[in-house]
Amino acid sequence: MAASPIYPTRDDDFARAWLDVDLGALRHNAGVLRARAGVPLLPMVKANGYGVGAVAVARALGMAFDDQPALADAPWGLGIASLDEAELLREAGCLGRIVCLQPLLPNELVRAHALGVTPALHRAADIARWTTLGAPEALAPYHLSVDTGMARAGIRWDEVDSLRDAMRQAPPQGVFTHFHSADESLASRDEQDGRFADALAVLHDVLPPDVLRHSDNSGAIASRHAGSPGHLARPGIALYAGLFSEELGLQPVVHLRARIIDLRAVHEGESVSYGATWRAPGPRRIATIACGYADGYRRHLSNAGMVLINGVRCPVAGRVTMDMIMVDVTAVDCDLGQVATLLGYDGQDCLTVETVAGLAGVSPYELLVGLTLRVPAVYHASIRSSIPSSV
Ligand SMILES: *Cc1c(COP(=O)(O)O)cnc(C)c1O
Repeated sequence: MAASPIYPTRDDDFARAWLDVDLGALRHNAGVLRARAGVPLLPMVKANGYGVGAVAVARALGMAFDDQPALADAPWGLGIASLDEAELLREAGCLGRIVCLQPLLPNELVRAHALGVTPALHRAADIARWTTLGAPEALAPYHLSVDTGMARAGIRWDEVDSLRDAMRQAPPQGVFTHFHSADESLASRDEQDGRFADALAVLHDVLPPDVLRHSDNSGAIASRHAGSPGHLARPGIALYAGLFSEELGLQPVVHLRARIIDLRAVHEGESVSYGATWRAPGPRRIATIACGYADGYRRHLSNAGMVLINGVRCPVAGRVTMDMIMVDVTAVDCDLGQVATLLGYDGQDCLTVETVAGLAGVSPYELLVGLTLRVPAVYHASIRSSIPSSV
């Protein structure tokens, strides 16, 4: 099936730069990951949903909100990293489960409880403290965090024995671990799988039989062909098509657009932008685009990036500046006010997050989460089905 071309959307009002967010693509990606993992998802919406917008992502995925019942294919819950992120979701009316995977300090537990957040705990004192919050007979759920080699958070896999009493007195709802290189090394993934299994074996007689086990991030989901082990999977970057797009058939979610706000001719040998690092090899037409590193268009893309104008790839000429970039548009017809695509689809061509991150030499994660500073997101039910505009 040939995909229909996708063109930049245009609002009537002038916007210098914006993100077209394709919520249909996000849902598609969630479906792909759910099918591949074979278990319900605990999608990660930390860092404002990887820059896409945590509340919009939660709604699009079908979480329950005070004005929207959960959809049948809604995720099991949402994963976050800080209580401020949970508070934003709760203030927006999100009623579903929210799990904070990052360790909380002891003095944050009261707030976590008040927000209805399921914390990741791994210190006996914190677990004991957690049991004192709320009604005595109703232990609020928490997940036990096991470090199997990432050395970032949780109890070491070979020290879980020390938590047997705590587990018996206050059984966790879930137990999880996190991979450091699942997408790069199957051996390291298998080693961590083994350590996690060892930890679970040590605790086996004190954990509830229905305890929810989970480990898989995007890389681990992509690395397995027989589904994810345990009961849940925790994709982040793949949901937003920041990695594994080709191999998993994911659709781009984020399309970064900005307008052409100036145009000029430069003569052979003349320079463009700070530091005069680019010189015209002949007569050239240069467009100035209203997006720079303050918008998240990385300075590493100086003399390295590409943008799409009328479906044609145009190279970034010279250094990326704070608010603007210049591109060589000699090969394409274009006008003032026209829309350039810095990330995502224009027509049939697409600059994926991976492509642009590769050109910048930064990680796709950094590119995505660095995007939203000044760029408003415009949410679309589906960009694929939207009427192509001729720009
Ligand atoms: C961020 C995070 C994930 C998701 O990782 P991706 O690589 O973005 O899929 C999963 N689990 C934990 C604990 C995380 O911190």
